[in-house]
Amino acid sequence: MSRKKILVIGAGLAGLSAARHLERNGIACTVLEKEREPGGLCRSKEVRGFTFDCDGHLLHFKHPSSFALVNRLLKGNLKEHRRSAWVYSYGRFCRYPFQANLYGLPPSVVKECLLGLMERPPAMSRRSKTQETFLHWTLRTFGRGIARHFMVPYNTKFWTLPLRDLTCEWLQEVVPVPSVPQIVEGTLRPSRKQYGYNARFWYPRQGGIQQLPAALAKDAGDIRTGCRVVGIDPRTKTVTLSSGAKERYDCLIATAPLPEMAGLIKGMPLKVRRLCGQLRWNSIYNINLGLDRGNDLKAHWVYFPQKDTRFFRVGFFDNISRTLAPEGKSALYVEAAYSRGRPIEKKSFARCIRKDLEKIGLLRHGEKIVASDINDIQYGYPIYDIRYAAARNALLRYLEGHTIFPAGRYGWWRYFSMEDAILDGMRAAKAVRAHV
Ligand SMILES: Cc1cc2nc3c(=O)[nH]c(=O)nc-3n(C[C@H](O)[C@H](O)[C@H](O)COP(=O)(O)OP(=O)(O)OC[C@H]3O[C@@H](n4cnc5c(N)ncnc54)[C@H](O)[C@@H]3O)c2cc1C
Repeated sequence: MSRKKILVIGAGLAGLSAARHLERNGIACTVLEKEREPGGLCRSKEVRGFTFDCDGHLLHFKHPSSFALVNRLLKGNLKEHRRSAWVYSYGRFCRYPFQANLYGLPPSVVKECLLGLMERPPAMSRRSKTQETFLHWTLRTFGRGIARHFMVPYNTKFWTLPLRDLTCEWLQEVVPVPSVPQIVEGTLRPSRKQYGYNARFWYPRQGGIQQLPAALAKDAGDIRTGCRVVGIDPRTKTVTLSSGAKERYDCLIATAPLPEMAGLIKGMPLKVRRLCGQLRWNSIYNINLGLDRGNDLKAHWVYFPQKDTRFFRVGFFDNISRTLAPEGKSALYVEAAYSRGRPIEKKSFARCIRKDLEKIGLLRHGEKIVASDINDIQYGYPIYDIRYAAARNALLRYLEGHTIFPAGRYGWWRYFSMEDAILDGMRAAKAVRAHV
């Protein structure tokens, strides 16, 4: 074992994966986690016989090697699913993605979507393409009809800001882009083709998503829960915990949110500190509900683009795994987004959500909720606006210059999946190995 002292802030997937990688390569490390248990966003809760994840957490893989790793960690307790995802629009359910499944929508909506497709603005020059806004990309890719009836209302609700303020850096495989013939075909009949990165997904056959961090934690060395890091002094290479205790380090892997570094790092120059203030994010208000009846809808999840519902998505735990709800009962997860610029009234929010669910028929009027759980996720999705890239890159450079290795969805500040977070933890661990 190396004698160097490695500290990891955060026992989410990224921190655990980094620690596991180091331990397996003979480098001992200590993971400091502020919560009472490891897992970060991938924790699950048992409530009256239901297993509630912290919002929906489904696995998808870009790399066969990460599938193999997760499958090994979960000892084969992994089931593959073919996505059943829907969009609720104009009082009806149509298949996801909206842009490839216009069939069944009101004729005037279909007509507007097709006309918009024919009248799309031209592509931009390669140079100006790098500065293209998400709004412009949407109009240029799908036309004004699909933009008006799905892309703009859905994404405005989700990102909580006008789409002209978003860049296209996060798009990659997140937004499916069917061809024009595929869009036209989708007006004639429901599309059989599955689009997008999550057309197939995996989930534990038994139990909630917490099994994944729990399996990683077994080999991740010394994990100290209830240890919040409240200060980092890069000069003396020490961190301070909320208890007042200090820990020395040679290398520090930080999966805590990048915007919080301004408050944590002692002696951070004002110029760098200001960059933290330029980063923006949305927050997710997740309500999980257990019902005393089976589920009529066979969907995994449904998107809600329209303004008359406060949530942007509702998913169905028991359709993902029967083991998440007791026999004869069902459970759903509701997701709504908010931010500093678009706050929500938290006191009355659950009541408003219930009304919206009743309006759509996902809850029966006056129906008894037998189990519930709320997760107010402060850091939901990093917002890719015009200042994102410059601020983030300069902050990462500053941290790396001070032997702090940022990692994970919030440390590295990217729209990461669980697979990405695990891989990013390994990337950070390899960088530490190269350093010590
Ligand atoms: C609403 C939502 C839904 C998602 N759904 C999916 C999905 O379906 N599929 C998918 O692949 N991905 C999904 N993701 C992404 C996935 O959750 C993340 O990529 C992954 O869990 C991130 O792991 P992490 O370790 O980087 O961060 P985290 O899980 O946030 O872990 C960071 C840890 O650091 C701890 N910490 C922070 N600050 C301190 C401090 N000062 N001191 C000590 N500890 C600290 C935190 O308590 C936390 O445990 C979703 C994300 C969100 C927000």
